[in-house]
This record gives sequence, C-alpha cells and structure tokens, in this order.
Amino acid sequence: MKLFFRTAICCIIMTVILCCGCGDAGPGERTDRAGQNTASWQYMDTAMGTVVQQTIYAKDQETAEDFSRQAFDLLSRLESEEISWRLDTSEVYRANASAGSGEGFGLSEDLSGLLEACKELWERSDGAFDATLGAVTRLWNIDSWAVEEDTEEFAPPAEGELERALSTCGSQRMRLVWEESGESGPKLGTDSVTEGDSAAAASASLQEGNGQAGRCRLYLPEGMQLDLGAVGKGFAMERLLGLLEDSSDVTAAVISLGGSILTYGSKPDGGPWRVGIVDPFDTSGSVGTLTLEGQWCVSTSGDYERYVEADGVRYHHILDPKTGMPAVSDVRGVTILMKDGLLSDGLSTACYILGPEKGMDLAGQYGAEALFVMADGRIEMSEGMEAYFMENENRR
Ligand code: ADP
Ligand code: MG
Repeated sequence: MKLFFRTAICCIIMTVILCCGCGDAGPGERTDRAGQNTASWQYMDTAMGTVVQQTIYAKDQETAEDFSRQAFDLLSRLESEEISWRLDTSEVYRANASAGSGEGFGLSEDLSGLLEACKELWERSDGAFDATLGAVTRLWNIDSWAVEEDTEEFAPPAEGELERALSTCGSQRMRLVWEESGESGPKLGTDSVTEGDSAAAASASLQEGNGQAGRCRLYLPEGMQLDLGAVGKGFAMERLLGLLEDSSDVTAAVISLGGSILTYGSKPDGGPWRVGIVDPFDTSGSVGTLTLEGQWCVSTSGDYERYVEADGVRYHHILDPKTGMPAVSDVRGVTILMKDGLLSDGLSTACYILGPEKGMDLAGQYGAEALFVMADGRIEMSEGMEAYFMENENRR
C-alpha cells in the first residue's frame, strides 16, 4: 500500500513572508530598515511539532535575539510541562493517567482555565469540538502523520476498535470541580493523586475550601484521554502575547506557529500587517490577504494541513466526535480572526466541522470573524471579516 503524508510547512512559510513584507531571511538574519529607529529580525525553529517563525521588531539585535530565545524556551516548556499527552513530564499526561481513579486530578490554574474554555466550546459547538477525543486520535496515530514521510504502512482503525475508543470520549463526562463553586465531586480522602502531582496539595484541600483560587479538580472517567491538539497553538499564542507585553524593548512582532499567527504592536513605518490565507487547493498560494493593525490572532484549520492517503482515500486530522472518522464537510479550510489565541484555534477546528452557517453563528457568539473556503472554491465569510479580507485576484 502506497502512502503519502503531508504537512503544510511550505504554506506556513509563505504566510509568514506575506505577513512580514520582507524577504525570506534565515534565523537571526537582519532585515535592514535604514533611517528607522527599530529594525526587524527573523528566527525560525521547530517547537510543539510545527515550524515556528518569529519576526521581531526591537531596538537592537541583542534584544530581538534574547526575546526569540525566551519565546522558543517558553514553547518547549509549555509542551513538556503542560500540554503534551506523550511526555510523562506534562500535566496533561498526568491528568490522563488519573482517568478512572475516582480521586480526580488537581489542575494548575492555567490548565483549569484552558479545560473550562474547552468545555464551554464543546457545549456551544454542540459537541463538534471535543478535547476528550484522545483515545480516538491515538488510534488514528495522527501525530505520526506530521513527522513521517511516505514509508509507513497505514490502515484506518477497525470498526470495533473505533467504537471502543469512542465510548471513552465525550466532554459531558469530563467533570471540572472549581474550588469556589461548592459543586461536590467524589469524596477526597487521601492525597493519592498520581505521584509527582505538584497541584495535589491544593486540590486535596478542595472540601476544606482553603486551596488556591482559580484551580479546579478534574475527574476523567476510565479510559478517557485528553487531546489538546486543537487548542495547543492557541494556548501558546496567549503565552507569547504575555511575553511580548512584558518585553518593553520589543515594539512589534509577528509569530507564526503552524496554522496560527499572532500579530503584535505596529511596524515602525506605521504600515499594517498582511497575513495571507493559504489556498487549500494550492497550498503554495493564497486565497487572499488579511490587512490588520496591532494585536490579532489568526488561526486556520483545514483538511490539507495534515492527512494521509491510503488506497485512494484521503483521511484528514479533524475528526467528527460523533463518528470518530475524519469530518465530512463541504469546507476545505476555515480561518478565524479574533484577539484571543486559544479561542481562535479552538473555533477554527469547530467551525470546520460545523460548516459556514452554524460556524459563523458560533464564531459570532465569541465576537470572532470567520472565513470559509468551500469545497467548490467559493469563499464565505462573516460580515465583519469583509473589512479585513481582500481576495487574491489571481485565484483560479
Ligand atoms: P492543527 O493543530 O493541525 O493546526 P487543528 O487546530 O484543527 O489543526 O487541530 C487538529 C487536532 O486537534 C488534531 O490533530 C487532533 O489532535 C485534535 N482534534 C481532531 N478533531 C478534533 C475535534 N473534533 N475536537 C477537538 N480536537 C480535535
Ligand atoms: Mg484548532
């Protein structure tokens, strides 16, 4: 069986080049802007399983380099300490290991907020977005699609296997008990959460009500596994924004993490950011450009980003939680534009499954703008998006 694996690295790079309005400078290379107080430097590396490109506007190269290093460190810590389901050093790994224990798992403040947002998105999207699909995404082995090239055997999961994995999923069965809420979770007896759980002390005091504010205890039923792949880059964009706000010598930046892009501040020449939206039918081109001022998050999800083809069938990485199969959609790609990174990432995944009508309604609930590239090539977008988007005239 012949297989093809593909990632959208080329289109990520193209998107960033459009953003920056400058050439394809390599890591650390300076983009000279004579006569201006602030120049920009570009850095590229991989983190969180994707290509990360940073264009940093700062007073000097040392400042830009220092920021860039901090940003890459932040991304690698975020993965290894918080959201990876594979690394046993991460909070999500330990939360998954607690599934079915009855004791629950004491979450950090950040993961508490993240999972609460995921649960709300699950509710509002009528279950299209579901952060508890881990058992199913592992069965499809989606992560390997991004890193392996066309050699490994692939077969879609057998029906029985898929049914078993699906039976462990469903955010309605993921319980989050906030300290302050008074909602009663299972009785917390001994502090017997997974070994090494740094949040255990705070969570064990839930019933006494004297733990730290803003945390909750997570109860996953037997077999349920979290997969935060659909919001990981958005979560990272929020963190990077915090780092930018703390770095007063960095005046502006564009950071691209796979299909998610963060813009921050203003270019020294006062010009806008231009963000290209990848053409799902020709990922080396764009369907058009967003023109943006200041801070924005732009997230795109599509069936062309990560997929595998076997025996003439294309399986992509956005799954329908109702079936556990790649979502059947008349959409090829969805772009969400909003200030919040986490939600823009989550919404792009949900809107792909929901399609334009329900998707635009959902995006509107969050104050987000949405653009859909349909399977027949048409573009559908929210009214507010029209102020930012200019279609590429050279599109086929
Ligand atoms: P990418 O991370 O490649 O930019 P997305 O943000 O759309 O793409 O997220 C897709 C990832 O999210 C998948 O690789 C999988 O791990 C997970 N996922 C797939 N389907 C869903 C879904 N319906 N709800 C939540 N997460 C999903
Ligand atoms: Mg997403």
